[in-house]
Amino acid sequence: MKHVAIVGSGPAGCYLADQLLRLVPDAQVDIVERLPVPFGLVRYGVAPDHQGTKAVSRLLDRVLARDRLRFFGHVEVGRDMRLEELRELYDAVVLATGAPRDRRLGIPGETLPGVVGSASFVGWYNGHPDCAAPPLLDVREAVVIGNGNVAIDVARVLAKTPAELAGSDLSPQVHERLLAQRIGTIHIVGRRGPADAKFTRAELAELGKLAGARPVIAEPQALSDLKALAEPQATADRQALVDPRPPGEAPASGEAAAIVELLRGFAQDARDTPVRIVFHFGAAPLAFEGRDRLESVRFARAGGEPLVLPAQLAVSCIGYQAVACCTAAPAAGVFVNEGARIEDGLYVAGWAGRGPSGTIPTNRTEAQRIAQRIAAELVDHGRGGSDALARTLAARRVRVVDHAAWRRIDAAELARAGTDRCRHKFESIEAMLEAAVAR
Ligand SMILES: Cc1cc2nc3c(=O)[nH]c(=O)nc-3n(C[C@H](O)[C@H](O)[C@H](O)COP(=O)(O)OP(=O)(O)OC[C@H]3O[C@@H](n4cnc5c(N)ncnc54)[C@H](O)[C@@H]3O)c2cc1C
Repeated sequence: MKHVAIVGSGPAGCYLADQLLRLVPDAQVDIVERLPVPFGLVRYGVAPDHQGTKAVSRLLDRVLARDRLRFFGHVEVGRDMRLEELRELYDAVVLATGAPRDRRLGIPGETLPGVVGSASFVGWYNGHPDCAAPPLLDVREAVVIGNGNVAIDVARVLAKTPAELAGSDLSPQVHERLLAQRIGTIHIVGRRGPADAKFTRAELAELGKLAGARPVIAEPQALSDLKALAEPQATADRQALVDPRPPGEAPASGEAAAIVELLRGFAQDARDTPVRIVFHFGAAPLAFEGRDRLESVRFARAGGEPLVLPAQLAVSCIGYQAVACCTAAPAAGVFVNEGARIEDGLYVAGWAGRGPSGTIPTNRTEAQRIAQRIAAELVDHGRGGSDALARTLAARRVRVVDHAAWRRIDAAELARAGTDRCRHKFESIEAMLEAAVAR
């Protein structure tokens, strides 16, 4: 039997496991996940009101239930097991650990209370056990920095009415904190022009259909700048300060034109709503300002006066970086690899290897390619695999959450959902482990 360990149970890890099981009939594939619960950003990144997207977790769960696959939840490589130890037990190890750290803007005031990165803010509203509540105090104006779908997600979650959040899995505690604010204005600020925004049509259009909020264009004349449509920025440049999610390609100019058209439609919206979502383009963040906490955000505008937006909350949505997995260290935000191979027997998949770009299905396409490579290079060294890993973890008294135990957590979360939520997540590891116990 050949043995493969995949570290991380996000889409990249699950899709790769699926492909490997199909391609290598004599392989056992184990997924090692630091949390007691699987699916990475599908659970903790995708917005709580986008349950249609989150539903992909049902497909991923079917992968975890397959023969020749074992889920080792609540096992962190670097904490419970060294990477070198894992490599001694498996013929191949794949890092599918994602890119969990916010990229920083590197401007003054970034540590002021009220300034947060999207990884921690989105993690908080999605109930990630590592993400503490941000210090929200009488927020009336919020600034969201970035021109991609993550920025839209954040603005939409802040803007939606309670009725619009019914059926989501936003936790009651988080919702209560959000409702306690009196948010009237949400600014979405992008460094580049409207034609360079990386919003996707569906997500942008959704902002025009909210019950209690309407989009506003701060400078509608920017939308008639057709030159911007003809000269899109280079791909790498686009990737620098924008949402990590859409595919790595620059949007086709047709897509850019559609985005600009949607924005033009927003400029015509004259409804009177309690919340305004104001789009600003061509404004580069200069500083977060305030004495003890955030009071305003200052932006530079090419050839114009600086833009200063009063704000009690600022969320930067400018991308993510991989973090070290035990002794494996990333460089410039990713694990350096050549076609997914880091070195003999060690591979990388998903955001950890290619950076924060692409949608969930991008990880599936990539998994097919990586699985083929691993299948071609995989050699049976007669290693211990799952059984040896289970023995080592038991000797260390690591409380492993297997697939059946995850299903118990899942069932408990569904059972406590209440009437207007589809799920009520456990927000602490302890509560998850408690729910994992067979009764
Ligand atoms: C805010 C946000 C919203 C998004 N919304 C959408 C959307 O609506 N539609 C869409 O198509 N895409 C969306 N995406 C993109 C999508 O989530 C990613 O493409 C995808 O999750 C990347 O998969 P991954 O497996 O590489 O990383 P992740 O999903 O981050 O999974 C990594 C996993 O590795 C685990 N891990 C990390 N370190 C260790 C360790 N040392 N030991 C064990 N386990 C470890 C983590 O706990 C995690 O479970 C969104 C992304 C973000 C950030």
